[in-house]
Amino acid sequence: MKVLVIGGAGYIGGHVTLELLEAGHEVTVYDNLSSGRRENVYAGGRFVEGDILDTEGLGATMDEGWDGVVHLAAFKAAGASMTAPEKYARNNITGTINILNAMCSAGIKRIVFSSTAAVYGETEYLPVDEKHPTRPENFYGFTKLEAERLLSWYGRLKGLRYTALRYFNAAGYDLRGRVSGLERNPANLLPVIMEVAAGMRESLTIFGNDYPTKDGSGVRDYVHVTDLASAHVAALERMARLDESLVVNLGSEAGLSVLEIVEAVRRITGKAIPAKVEGRRAGDPARLVASSALAAEKLGWKAVHSDVDTLVSSSWNVYKR
Ligand code: UDP
Repeated sequence: MKVLVIGGAGYIGGHVTLELLEAGHEVTVYDNLSSGRRENVYAGGRFVEGDILDTEGLGATMDEGWDGVVHLAAFKAAGASMTAPEKYARNNITGTINILNAMCSAGIKRIVFSSTAAVYGETEYLPVDEKHPTRPENFYGFTKLEAERLLSWYGRLKGLRYTALRYFNAAGYDLRGRVSGLERNPANLLPVIMEVAAGMRESLTIFGNDYPTKDGSGVRDYVHVTDLASAHVAALERMARLDESLVVNLGSEAGLSVLEIVEAVRRITGKAIPAKVEGRRAGDPARLVASSALAAEKLGWKAVHSDVDTLVSSSWNVYKR
């Protein structure tokens, strides 16, 4: 397939591009490099520098004609979205509308959308399946849910077929070190803690130790980025076979606390990892763990690299350089 990967120079996008190329697809990356890196576009992928808010440039690239689009171009820091909602609304919602409209005018029917577990908000039950109510606690999650709703309407009105992949917490790096661009100004736990391990940052701030969890720190479902990437390939191939849209969780189905991650990083890197506990971060739920049964059923997908040791050691391989 000929695939356009929008936001393909980012951390997840770089891994998605790699998996698509490995599966024999032809890949073009469209990215404004605001947080992505040119070197994340693995050899064999074509690169077009462009912005999703530039409707003309986006339209011109879309008009080249594609068998499928993967859309990963978004801001993703839950904390920042609560203090700069305008920025998140513009890029994540307006940007998605621009992509959908460009697809409609170019007659392109298939899209894989990177959504998030943040659409669920505080959980009513665990593990979270796709039927769980969607009540985002942070604005980032709201922007992704809005985008999913747009996909659904464009499905009904324009015949668009989509797969919305609700990622739980992406972590780790390509096991062979082929994607090695470090994230810029990261706010997510794994890259932050890696920066501490590598001496790029003094200490880790742990946001809250009074949650109703096993050790008081936040619990998340961390899923290896290569596992996430392979789901994009499966989703595109499924849509080529079946005229059907899908909204699906991607998680490892295991819950790890912040303190468990800190312990694993200390053990694997041999570094001290100075950490101080501060108050909870606005918009953070206590626990988020996935059921990925639907992904197994519909995409034949399951996380295979998402144990804590692989997550940490594959990241450390990149950061220790
Ligand atoms: N977290 C933390 N310190 C940090 C970054 C994150 O304690 O510097 C915690 C956060 O409160 C949450 C977990 O780590 O419990 C994962 O946060 P992240 O931002 O990576 O992902 P999110 O779940 O918010 O999408």
